[in-house]
Amino acid sequence: MFAEMSALALATGAINLGQGFPDEDGPREVLDAARDAIASGVNQYPPGPGLPVLRDAIARHQQRWYGLELDPAREVLVTAGATEALAATLLAFVDVGDEVVTFEPSYDAYGAVIARAGGIHRTVPLRFPDWRPGADELRAAVTDRTRVILVNSPHNPTGAILDDATLDLIVELAHRHDALIVTDEVYEHLVFDGAHTPIATRPGAWERTISISSGGKTFNTTGWKIGWLTGPADLVTAVLAVKQYLTFVNGAPFQPAIAAGLDLPDGFFAGAAAELAARRDLLVGGLRRAGFDPSVPASGYFVVADAAPLGVDDGAALCRELPHRAGVVGVPVTAFVHPSRRDGVRSLVRFAFCKRRDVLETAVERLSGLG
Ligand code: PMP
Ligand code: GLN
Repeated sequence: MFAEMSALALATGAINLGQGFPDEDGPREVLDAARDAIASGVNQYPPGPGLPVLRDAIARHQQRWYGLELDPAREVLVTAGATEALAATLLAFVDVGDEVVTFEPSYDAYGAVIARAGGIHRTVPLRFPDWRPGADELRAAVTDRTRVILVNSPHNPTGAILDDATLDLIVELAHRHDALIVTDEVYEHLVFDGAHTPIATRPGAWERTISISSGGKTFNTTGWKIGWLTGPADLVTAVLAVKQYLTFVNGAPFQPAIAAGLDLPDGFFAGAAAELAARRDLLVGGLRRAGFDPSVPASGYFVVADAAPLGVDDGAALCRELPHRAGVVGVPVTAFVHPSRRDGVRSLVRFAFCKRRDVLETAVERLSGLG
């Protein structure tokens, strides 16, 4: 769906608020560090678990922001984006017939990798517009057949952040049913309302949790595909065994550059989140004026908006028409939900606000002609 919508944007010249990638470069320090690394010969295979300079920076980052003390040699693994971290982790732990529980809607890679591993995908619904999971639905989804509870907070596509009570319930259920927790936290620094708590910091979580993140969203470097995972050494070693035969290694000169980014002062992270929050407000306001009913995301890159007030009941059909009718591209939320469970989300569309302000202003102006 992302590829289809980005191709449509290219073909029609429409503004692409579909696929989530920024249209501006990130911090100069990070870009300069990549150039320096290439110029100074960091161009061959890095070590399998990643260059020490990046593993050390990831360990420092987990300590600085979350108080987690990691051994960078054994508890940190650099991957080809969060995407490979997710794939290698699920392929390492999920056997044929094992169940994996996720919230739904969910990032589309989850269902695909679970299926490829031969796993069974169980879901807990998040409902428009507040996206809070029901504790009873969560309890019912996790059983002795559950191998992995896959958490994504801050969440794509909704921007929702799980509260501590929900995180603690997940830890409790993982203990009761001897499941692993895998947590995708790629939007960890893009939080506007409330605060992000990594589930690995909750009592009893660490020894059964793999935490995944990536430099793409934090430093506007989605094309570099530098991701990582952290967790107890035995779990990380199991993932390394799979990762070794997926990509082996990747992105040598980008690894020290992301390390430089992770060491940037607090002001960089706060400034990036504040700028993105202003863009969220711009898009949410514009969508409201255009007649949509948007849910206000607490984090991330995306607004989910209901097109029902515009008389639309099929968000996918609207997304195919929007480039022609309004010169804007969005993604239907049905792309994040299994075909058999799409009824509650048919009229919902996801729009990205990780774009320049002038681009967002033009987009909302165009959308205002829809009603
Ligand atoms: N997880 C989520 C929730 C995402 O939104 C994305 C990026 N769109 C990824 C993982 C993939 O991250 P990366 O580009 O680092 O592979
Ligand atoms: N994570 C981005 C999104 O949700 C890009 C995903 C992709 O292109 N696979 O839009």
